[in-house]
Amino acid sequence: MIYLDYQATTPVAPDVSKAMQPWIEEKFANPHSPSRWGHEAAAAIENARKQVEKTIGLKGGSVAFTGSATEAINWALKGTVEKAPKGRNRIITVATEHAAVLDTCEWLAGQGADLTVLPVKANGRLDLSLLERELDERVLLVAVMMVNNEIGVTQPISEISEMVHKAGGLMLCDAVQAFGRFELWDGPDLVAVSAHKIHGPKGIGALWMRKGKEPAPLIHGGGQEQGLRSGTLSPALCVGFGAAATLAEERCTRDHDHVEKLWKAAIHALGPGWIINGCTDCRYHGNLNIRREGVDAARLIADLRDIAFSLGSACASGSGRPSHVLRALGLDYREARSSIRLGFGRYTTQHEIMDACKRIAAHAVAQEKLDA
Ligand code: PLP
Repeated sequence: MIYLDYQATTPVAPDVSKAMQPWIEEKFANPHSPSRWGHEAAAAIENARKQVEKTIGLKGGSVAFTGSATEAINWALKGTVEKAPKGRNRIITVATEHAAVLDTCEWLAGQGADLTVLPVKANGRLDLSLLERELDERVLLVAVMMVNNEIGVTQPISEISEMVHKAGGLMLCDAVQAFGRFELWDGPDLVAVSAHKIHGPKGIGALWMRKGKEPAPLIHGGGQEQGLRSGTLSPALCVGFGAAATLAEERCTRDHDHVEKLWKAAIHALGPGWIINGCTDCRYHGNLNIRREGVDAARLIADLRDIAFSLGSACASGSGRPSHVLRALGLDYREARSSIRLGFGRYTTQHEIMDACKRIAAHAVAQEKLDA
């Protein structure tokens, strides 16, 4: 199989798996118990926390572990609304955000929050003048992602954060697809990240919180994570997350250069007739979302079963609905349905990307002839 679905998840790095091993069987103590073994597990978790915080790289805050980035985002949004000062109940977000943000915001709107979902330009970038117009003294929280999971387009997080702070609001950044790949841009008060997008294990994420801006707890119980997020932490998952974060930081430039070469090779191998969805300059190059007139993307994926690639967001595929992100760029139903997402990264080889892209292109041409 050629794996080209790196935005959905990434393979666990061998060094990450090795670091986790002792904490799965041998060192099984509860990290919150007072025994010597408990202390040892707690120390491993604190070391992992420092590793994740170092890779996030922002000053003036700390990380609490969660079960996923989806949980971190739910917590950030719902917990901030719970602590909102009187008169601030506006939430602003963007049409191309992940469902973890959009669905939670919709839920909060159902509970009485005043929600604005801003459109994007045809290249997937937010028009900052639209945001400027919306920012007033009633704004509580603005949620904007750093790198889009479907089209790889980046947003100017520092600039947006500055605008939001001027209006007295808080800034939440979903940095799931940026973490470990980009130096995170300074400014946000809350940042959500996930281990499984950076060659770490599934089932663990984190919320970075600026000191004094911590949301109210979402999960109550034993008071772990400074009383902010109850539940026994998994030393194995935390250690794996920490190891993956350190590895990503160490390899950041090398991984970047690698995906840029793969991006160029992919475009070359696909040949003419393909259109790139989203901005080509402001982007992460490990994501290539493309469309071709007349292609039935679902059929292409079904035909090429030994290449793992995607229709759009992994969360949305299978729903039968065309991607909300592609629709937000202004693509019509047919254009969205003829779009595929190729996601590649650290372990993808030049040979794999060339082979996969040539076969995808050949199949697309064959489909066109068959349908003509
Ligand atoms: N945000 C973005 C941009 C994502 O790509 C994903 C995963 O697909 C999530 C949030 C949710 O992350 P998790 O799988 O850790 O819940």
